[in-house]
Amino acid sequence: MGYLELDMDLGSEAKAIQKEVRKFALGEMRPVGIQLDRLSDPADVIAKDSPLWSLIRNYRKLNLHMAGIPKAFGGMAEEMDPKIGPLVAHEMGYGDAGLAISFGAGSMPFTLAAMSPEPSVQQIARDYCEDAKGELIGCWAITEPQHGSDWVNATNPKFDDPKCGSEVTAVLKGDEYIINGQKAAWVSNGTIATHAALHVNLDPSKGMQGTGLAVIPLDLPGIRKGKPLDKIGQRALNQGEIFFDEVKIPKSHMLVPEPAVMHMVMRQILTGANTGMGQTFVGLAQAAFDEALKYAKERIQGGVPIFEHQNIKLRLFEMFIKVESARALSRRVSLYNAVNEAGSVHYAIASKILSTRTAYEVASDAIAVFGGNGLAREYGVEKMFRDARASMIEDGDNSVLAIGGADDLI
Ligand SMILES: Cc1cc2nc3c(=O)[nH]c(=O)nc-3n(C[C@H](O)[C@H](O)[C@H](O)COP(=O)(O)OP(=O)(O)OC[C@H]3O[C@@H](n4cnc5c(N)ncnc54)[C@H](O)[C@@H]3O)c2cc1C
Repeated sequence: MGYLELDMDLGSEAKAIQKEVRKFALGEMRPVGIQLDRLSDPADVIAKDSPLWSLIRNYRKLNLHMAGIPKAFGGMAEEMDPKIGPLVAHEMGYGDAGLAISFGAGSMPFTLAAMSPEPSVQQIARDYCEDAKGELIGCWAITEPQHGSDWVNATNPKFDDPKCGSEVTAVLKGDEYIINGQKAAWVSNGTIATHAALHVNLDPSKGMQGTGLAVIPLDLPGIRKGKPLDKIGQRALNQGEIFFDEVKIPKSHMLVPEPAVMHMVMRQILTGANTGMGQTFVGLAQAAFDEALKYAKERIQGGVPIFEHQNIKLRLFEMFIKVESARALSRRVSLYNAVNEAGSVHYAIASKILSTRTAYEVASDAIAVFGGNGLAREYGVEKMFRDARASMIEDGDNSVLAIGGADDLI
């Protein structure tokens, strides 16, 4: 990766972590991601002999899975310089965006568990921090078959029509909640997760304003998983349905039992998720740019490297401008949201949209620079293009996010 580091105040620790993660991203994530992408059956991505499992174990050796968990629960949140987060996510997206998302979503229920006042729930976070074997894997279970964008709109107080109420219900009976319903095939890590951050409907009369959030283990009686989802982009990322049939969880596992509080929590989740997406997909955009630049220096047409041709020069420079712009916004938004507790939803959304759109456009331009070879699997940029296309829907379709962002801005 050959970009000039414009942030001149990055400390030596941040640079050392960046170097270490880059080594892992390029040396391990990139080749494993390509290998998994080429498997025609998504069930093989998570088969016993899949390289996914050793990759997860090696990722745990970097200790980054516990980066968001406070020291008191075995994590290292307080030790992390806020400048490090975007560097790490960028490198991971550079290696393989789908796998980067798997690792990011994988820590979510555990990070939330550390926020619980209940010792039994906090223990879930501690177990995760200590899990060097990669046996505990999390997921963010929010989307449902009939409610995708509805969930993204849940921060809008006007979204209170009972017709829009979500499908997974949680009803309090004594000291337990009884959970019924289904989460969609889009849940990242859905078929391999051991724990979920589970969004539920607590009060159907309030539509999307009646929701809550639980942290639950996924080996409870009544829980069933679907088969791994087959899709065109981010094929290395396992996704799949989760079904709940009269599942009982202790009351203490309902982290947010009050819809009024959930509204605030949902804003924080959207801020965090969009900030992370903004960081990760600049990495993918940079990867597509680097491949195109390298190829332009090697490919000879008209007796000269194609870089000598005016149209290729102009295209490459436009790609360069886009990547640098997306990185600049993503870094600033990340830092702001890391040090300001409330954060800014609309800046986070702007960063997500800019980065994913940039990744998509730059990967498309990379295909143009490669000519016919851009369409061949061998050269890899077609995979980057497919992965980038998925990101524009991932964690909220960009146009729905933009409407929510505009509401927040106004
Ligand atoms: C790679 C990937 C990873 C994902 N990971 C996860 C995950 O970890 N966990 C999880 O739960 N989900 C995950 N998702 C699901 C994702 O959040 C949803 O796909 C997304 O929110 C869109 O929902 P939908 O697919 O149901 O589309 P729909 O909501 O059905 O939208 C279809 C179209 O209608 C438009 N539309 C819908 N409602 C409105 C509205 N109110 N106003 C204007 N336009 C509207 C949308 O813009 C879109 O073009 C993932 C998706 C992808 C692609």
